[in-house]
Amino acid sequence: MSKFIEGQDRSQGTMFPERVDDYVEEDSPVRVIDVFIDDLDISGLGFKAEPAATGRPGYHPKTMLKLYVYGYLNRVQSSRRLEVEAQRNIELMWLTGRLAPDFKTIADFRKDNGEAIRLVCREFVMLCKKLDLLSEKLVAIDGSKFKAVNSRDRNFTRAKMKRCLRDVESAIERYLARLDEADKSEPARDDAKTLQDKVAKLREEMARLKKLEVRMLEAPDQQLSLTDPDARSMNSRGTGVVGYNVQSAVDAQHHLIIAHEVTNVGSDRSQLSRMAREAKAVLDVERLDAVADRGYYNGNEIRACEQDGIAAYLPKPGTSPNKAKGQFDRAVFKYVEPDDEYECPAGERLIYRFTRTEANKEIRRYWTSACPNCAIKAQCTDGDYRRVSRWVHADVVERAQVRLDSRPDLMQRRRSTVEHPFGTIKSWMGSTHFQTKTIPKVSTEMSLQVLAYNMKRAINLLGTQKIIETITA
Ligand code: SF4
Repeated sequence: MSKFIEGQDRSQGTMFPERVDDYVEEDSPVRVIDVFIDDLDISGLGFKAEPAATGRPGYHPKTMLKLYVYGYLNRVQSSRRLEVEAQRNIELMWLTGRLAPDFKTIADFRKDNGEAIRLVCREFVMLCKKLDLLSEKLVAIDGSKFKAVNSRDRNFTRAKMKRCLRDVESAIERYLARLDEADKSEPARDDAKTLQDKVAKLREEMARLKKLEVRMLEAPDQQLSLTDPDARSMNSRGTGVVGYNVQSAVDAQHHLIIAHEVTNVGSDRSQLSRMAREAKAVLDVERLDAVADRGYYNGNEIRACEQDGIAAYLPKPGTSPNKAKGQFDRAVFKYVEPDDEYECPAGERLIYRFTRTEANKEIRRYWTSACPNCAIKAQCTDGDYRRVSRWVHADVVERAQVRLDSRPDLMQRRRSTVEHPFGTIKSWMGSTHFQTKTIPKVSTEMSLQVLAYNMKRAINLLGTQKIIETITA
């Protein structure tokens, strides 16, 4: 052993530092947590923790908050593990003044104070703004799917239920056919009883599925999750996941998360204006640029952004059925604004015919009477006429396209901006992702993750001393 570094003898008397403070490094992130939370005015945040009038006093919300922020910053998210860490981790002892609540108290604090924790997360974004870490000009909006506690086996959609019922039914038929054969054989085969048991079990399963089907059909979106009722089956990078769609608005300069929202809607199409508006409110700016991917493309959302002083940059999904058939793409029809007409590749004018409502949008329809005699009709349409549709607010999406064309670098910038926070948070959360159930609790979990991410990022960018000095100034 003499050629290796040797530890101290356990029985040897030592002079420990006199203060717990001496064990905590000067630049330890735990000092930022301490100063940030001590400085918070939590009176208006709505924490549900009253000082005890009689009996044993409870823990101060700031103590519990410190415990949680430390836990999320150090990948200790479960209340049981936090209870253990509070008793043995010197940094936590320093942070909480050696207070070590039991896991139930820790879990209840997170359960009861979702909105207040969300506001604390926002307070840290405000601090980042004070620290000049936010560009206040450009945000990237993106959604990412996070797994819920609910397994795929315990989630049912209409299609999946149909498949399950069909599988059980065909298994029953198979066993019944084998049972018939067993009954006919002389002497009677030994496996008849086993087959009967299997059929009985499958019938029980069929009855269970039928009951679940009734519950599933009663749900507004005709989907049922048995472990976490709010979790939904959604598509994530080509595979199905039962979970939540977490929306975020990320600052393009230092990749800090300005706003976030947990939803159980699989599609991003209706999220753009809400997230951009939240980011704009937090940044408190007159105008804001927001970049998103084609999954967010929605004329009404782009228009709502424009009305709120937000310039949206996002590509249009390439879904032209004519282009797919090798015919003229819709984009080659040029709109002649003064005449409210379209010019087609044959040089004919498509004139306005009528307006109709499609998917809550007023759509104007145009076509020309020249189509039947057109020499290039085969390249244009299979029908009698090539009809072109125009949303009454199409100028909004046309402006968005011009904006995007003028800044081709933005889509690359979007990708590098949003991948950083989601990649980091997912690696912290591990493969199981959320630990709690239902949207309110999952939202609280996400707020703590976002707070921890932003705090770590700010510390990496500026160092603990600068942040502490700004808070205490
Ligand atoms: S088919 Fe009609 S719309 Fe198409 S190029 Fe010919 S005239 Fe124009």
